Amino acid sequence: MATDRSEKKLMIWIFLGAPGAGKGTQAERLRGDFGFVQISTGEMLREAIRAGTELGKSVQGYVTRGELVPDDLMAAVLQERLAQGNTGNGVILDGFPRTVRQAEMLEEILARHCWQLCGVVYLDTSEEVILQRLGGRRICPRCGANYHVVTMPPKVEGRCDRCGAELVVRPDDAPEAVRKRLEVYRKQTEPLVTFYSQRGLLERINASGEAEEVYQAVKAAVARRWQRCLAGG
Ligand code: AMP
Repeated sequence: MATDRSEKKLMIWIFLGAPGAGKGTQAERLRGDFGFVQISTGEMLREAIRAGTELGKSVQGYVTRGELVPDDLMAAVLQERLAQGNTGNGVILDGFPRTVRQAEMLEEILARHCWQLCGVVYLDTSEEVILQRLGGRRICPRCGANYHVVTMPPKVEGRCDRCGAELVVRPDDAPEAVRKRLEVYRKQTEPLVTFYSQRGLLERINASGEAEEVYQAVKAAVARRWQRCLAGG
């Protein structure tokens, strides 16, 4: 595909971190404050599975087992979503890339469109915090909203604040799948910390604390990088 320099320059942010590090929660807050659009590849896949589409059928096994969906398929899914527009003041990628190969494919996509990667927010957490967060996580099967029974409970127990549906445990938050996801994260995704650090794009945030405290650190880092990005740096 030819490079298209006529389109609006799109600014991209990546949220990187282990499952349960708070990527979805922090990205959602940032979206509200900065007018960014959040693209969660995990949520896109869960939606496809719920809707029973061809994509949903082909990825269901991987997602339920806590394994990664093949890189080529994920890059195609992401590229299709980015091509649809509706990208606000910039896009937060929550859950992509998950492998060095995906990061390379993303670089190719960005170069082709003259889009810019502004920064990579790395939410650094201990394994203990991750296990505690995933153990209490509940999601809305209808609209995808996230909750935690202790730290982020819904207003009415067991019901989604946004749409009222009954909350459920994500199938891949079951102990066996969590073990698998953490192992996959350490082996396949953690190398991205070095990958982006070497490119001067990494913002390491201590994400073990309260959501609000973590958010203040995320917001400050993004505001700083955004200025740089807008100035073309
Ligand atoms: P998440 O909601 O980000 O934890 O993703 C849930 C699941 O979706 C993962 O465990 C993978 O099975 C799949 N998935 C999401 N994003 C990706 C990706 N970038 N590459 C491969 N698999 C993914």
